Amino acid sequence: MAEGAAMTRVGFIGLGIMGGPMAVNLVRAGFEVTGHNRTPSKTDRLVRAGGRAAGSVAEAVTGADVVLTMLPDSPDVRGVVLGEGGVLAHAREGALLVDCSTIRPDVARELAEAAAERGLAMLDAPVSGGEQGAVEGTLSIMAGGTAEAFEAARPVLDAVGATVVHVGPAGAGQTVKAANQLILAGTLELVAEALVFLEAHGLDTGTAFRVLAGGMAGSTVLDRKGAAMRAREFTPGFRVALHHKDLGIALTAAREAGVVIPLGAAVAQLMAALDAQGHGGLDHSALVQLVARLSGRE
Ligand code: NAP
Repeated sequence: MAEGAAMTRVGFIGLGIMGGPMAVNLVRAGFEVTGHNRTPSKTDRLVRAGGRAAGSVAEAVTGADVVLTMLPDSPDVRGVVLGEGGVLAHAREGALLVDCSTIRPDVARELAEAAAERGLAMLDAPVSGGEQGAVEGTLSIMAGGTAEAFEAARPVLDAVGATVVHVGPAGAGQTVKAANQLILAGTLELVAEALVFLEAHGLDTGTAFRVLAGGMAGSTVLDRKGAAMRAREFTPGFRVALHHKDLGIALTAAREAGVVIPLGAAVAQLMAALDAQGHGGLDHSALVQLVARLSGRE
């Protein structure tokens, strides 16, 4: 059992691609986990692992020591935390809130302030590592908030992540995550372009990717997504719609800081095009499909 797991009750809201396996890993680490999801069938995996299903946010968070949220976007987290029947209305004073969703840094700060007014500490703790990282419990977690809240959250975060780092005050985790999404999108786009380029030259792309992966062009994106991109297999994973959302966050944050991100802006437009063409539900590696289409090579 993980240190600190005994007698720690966790309320978990949002059991999708990421939240589902994270909640299971918390059960495996010895936490008592009660999960809630909008589509109720997504609690099945947690229940099979030994957790409990709750029919509402209120039921999941009442009596919890730690509340985790893993929801799609800023309005979802704001609604679940601040809304009627939401987390702040039902969590006990002194409970710790940890939002692992990727949302706007200013919303993360607003929610941390609202939580503090009710006597609850809150961390923004977005994650990187994809579905595989969530299943394996090896996520990279970038946490923003007070040092005390971070130390209190450590046992929970260590149960779902391998690289868990306190990066600064409230909102800082989301700012680091925006940088993560910028690097990820840019890398994905260049891997997509390289793949279409190699295909157009009639080369064996499996062989080419093997040698590229061993040199300076190697990357986690190439390792984890390369084969599926070659096969044009786009089951998510990480949905285009969510990466489109994240690049919007990155562009706004760059503008606020007076920083120019020309390549980030270009890939944001390509992700937006995929989304606008109705491919928001595909894995973001579907960027390769767009590059092929732009090259007249579908
Ligand atoms: P997802 O599969 O869409 O999961 C989100 C879950 O939240 C869904 O199951 C959804 O329920 C549920 N939900 C939405 N609103 C709710 C509400 N009001 N009450 C209860 N449940 C609610 O998305 P995901 O891929 O797990 O991503 C979650 C977050 O992690 C996003 O912010 C994303 O950007 C971030 N992230 C994702 C990845 C990845 O590789 N997928 C990696 C790192 C970070 P329904 O089933 O009813 O839609």
